[in-house]
Amino acid sequence: MTGLTRCARSLALFVCLLLAFGGGQPASANQAAGSADPGFAAWLQDLREEALAKGISAATLDAALKDVAPVARVIEKDRSQREFTLTFTRYLRSSVTETRVERAQRLMEEHRDLLQRVEARFGVQPRFLVSFWGLESNFGDYTGGFSVIRALATLAHDSRRSAFFRAELLHALQILDEGHITLDRMLGSWAGAMGQVQFIPSTFVNFAIDFDGDGRRDIWNSLPDIFASAANYLSQEGWRGDETWGREVALPPEFDFGLASLKIAKPLADWAGVHGLRKADGSPLPAVDLDASIVLPSGHRGPAFLVYRNYRTILIWNRSILYALAVGHLADRIVGAAPLSALPDEQPISLKAIEEMQALLNAKGFDAGEPDGLVGRQTRAALSAYQRAIGVPADGYPTAEIIERLRRE
Ligand code: CA
Repeated sequence: MTGLTRCARSLALFVCLLLAFGGGQPASANQAAGSADPGFAAWLQDLREEALAKGISAATLDAALKDVAPVARVIEKDRSQREFTLTFTRYLRSSVTETRVERAQRLMEEHRDLLQRVEARFGVQPRFLVSFWGLESNFGDYTGGFSVIRALATLAHDSRRSAFFRAELLHALQILDEGHITLDRMLGSWAGAMGQVQFIPSTFVNFAIDFDGDGRRDIWNSLPDIFASAANYLSQEGWRGDETWGREVALPPEFDFGLASLKIAKPLADWAGVHGLRKADGSPLPAVDLDASIVLPSGHRGPAFLVYRNYRTILIWNRSILYALAVGHLADRIVGAAPLSALPDEQPISLKAIEEMQALLNAKGFDAGEPDGLVGRQTRAALSAYQRAIGVPADGYPTAEIIERLRRE
């Protein structure tokens, strides 16, 4: 929609709204926010009509949309950008701390019966449920203090990703209408991730479970509902309760780093036999019939991981490869596994330097795409090709060193 047509449409709706709410009288309390921003009030009325058409009750909408106005802090969060790359070393050190491991172990013991009942029904091992719980909300400590309805209304009205957030807002209103949580307790992140497992409303609608049988799916307060909802989500997305997520491995000296890609999956027997991989401690890989891929989160100088099918399911929950490794590693640590063998000292790289690297790669004929400061698949492929051309390990991993070399040559 062009700005002009949006404006025309908004004005028309605003006029309708004024008529509906008392023929030109000052806007009622419901439209207090709208009186400052007629565009928003009209937008909200349009949203309300769509919600009514979807069967959400007028009473729920009256309560939920009363006084709703764009929240500046939400837009600020949405627009804020990291200035440096996030390194695996830094991420892992902050997400899988000794304190968190110990607390996870205690909590797994404390909730063992419940976790086992959830495992029996959904087939997800307790250590993974506790790991997700720890990483999503620090075991319920940090669930976000934003009103989910206000945050989602802000993002749905905003032009950047309005269709996505409008759908989420409608789901959030449905959740309220069904009585799973009260409006004042429906809190979450600035982007609408809710409760102790940080489900966005569509994930809630599709996967949340009432496991304590009180008729409400309460991922904010009920641990049975929280664990069962996480387990159901994972299970529906293909989790295998008789497999783990992956493991750290040792690569042979002449390893072809071009094989380190989630696009390449090979049987474990091939990784062991043909490519010479071993467990991180040097012992042979288990003889299990599994397909696995290699992930190098810190490039060739850092730890290497063989990841299995459950790793891909974690990526459905959150598509960050660092997050997925942290979930797996924390789950392992909960049941007594050792810390990772070695984390390299990695220097974060400024996104400006990444942009410069992309431009330099492009200039040398290695197509890194439009420079945007983000290290995506195309940037990694271009960097790998350059690394091969100059005879260094082709891991596609940007370092200050390789950027310096690009500048010089
Ligand atoms: Ca419940």
